[in-house]
Amino acid sequence: MQGIHSMKNVIDILDIKVSRTPQSRLESTDFENLPFGRVFSDHMFTADFEDGEWKNFQILPYGNIEISPAASALHYGQAIFEGIKAYKQADGRISIFRPYKNLERFNISAQRMAMPIIPEEIFMQGMQQLLEMDRDWVPSQEGYSLYIRPVMFATDPILGVHASSNYKFVILIGPVGVYYAKPLKVKIETHYTRAVEGGVGYAKTAGNYASSLLPTKLAQQEGFDQLIWTDAKEHAYIEESGTTNVMFVINDTLITPSTRDSILDGVTRHSILDLARSWGMPVEERRVTVTEVIEAAQNGTLQDAFGAGTAATIAHIAEITYEGKKYTLPEPSSRAFSNKALQALKEIRYGLVPDPFGWNHLI
Ligand SMILES: *Cc1c(COP(=O)(O)O)cnc(C)c1O
Repeated sequence: MQGIHSMKNVIDILDIKVSRTPQSRLESTDFENLPFGRVFSDHMFTADFEDGEWKNFQILPYGNIEISPAASALHYGQAIFEGIKAYKQADGRISIFRPYKNLERFNISAQRMAMPIIPEEIFMQGMQQLLEMDRDWVPSQEGYSLYIRPVMFATDPILGVHASSNYKFVILIGPVGVYYAKPLKVKIETHYTRAVEGGVGYAKTAGNYASSLLPTKLAQQEGFDQLIWTDAKEHAYIEESGTTNVMFVINDTLITPSTRDSILDGVTRHSILDLARSWGMPVEERRVTVTEVIEAAQNGTLQDAFGAGTAATIAHIAEITYEGKKYTLPEPSSRAFSNKALQALKEIRYGLVPDPFGWNHLI
């Protein structure tokens, strides 16, 4: 079915109906104070999947949309999303960071959740035209960017458990500042699980985040900022940190869990691995045991540990607690690898240096 959906949707130039807001909120928005995900630009892009095809391409004022209370996304969770960032470059051009990787992953998520795939034309042209219209919403302060949130959800107003026939695709955009203010205190979780073999961990689907909220809240009540998730079977292998991939530097080698169906295949992760390899740094993508990380923390060979994801880029881990014992890691500002990677990503994204990997999609 997925293949049939995609075949029907070969569209070159999308016919997007545009209705502008009569009253921009740009002037009344405080760009000095941008808590993540709370501020949205003037417009949004929407499309509907009906009768086996995508239609009704629109850019319209950001606002509420009407759905049936029986919409199957609300009951059975067919909902997927993406997170992408756009940056204002020194010369004023806007650059979207590796959006085709997100398109690819969106469609991997769609397939796992028995949802129709979204053709490239709709995803890319919808996003680009929306960004062009709301280009003044892309902040220019250092560390700031425009967050792009594509989302698709099932809209059949039917309570029977089935893959919906109708879906809505929406792209929201909004300016964001720095995600995490300070280095993280994390706990290695050995009871709850984020994702299982054969499950949906590799899909950016709503339920994965819902199921992580209680364990995260409990950890926060104990004074931690975030969890490190371990495998469901033995809780012996490290998988991710919160909603980011996790990376370690042990003995000058960059080590990260290899992707599998319980791990989200992150664009930031790929980018950091590419940078490390280009610098000649040894890189290991493999299963990573809790034991080796704790031993490295104990014997002083754990030089760096951080989460890697679009929202935060790199979130330093300051402390790791495992089975009630706390391990303090090297001072984040002194860490050679993650600070170099962060700086390199920043310079590429803001167009301050050449873009050797072709990561910037300029509009
Ligand atoms: C989005 C996400 C990531 C990071 O992916 P990026 O493409 O780098 O943003 C990692 N883990 C989980 C669970 C995620 O949802």
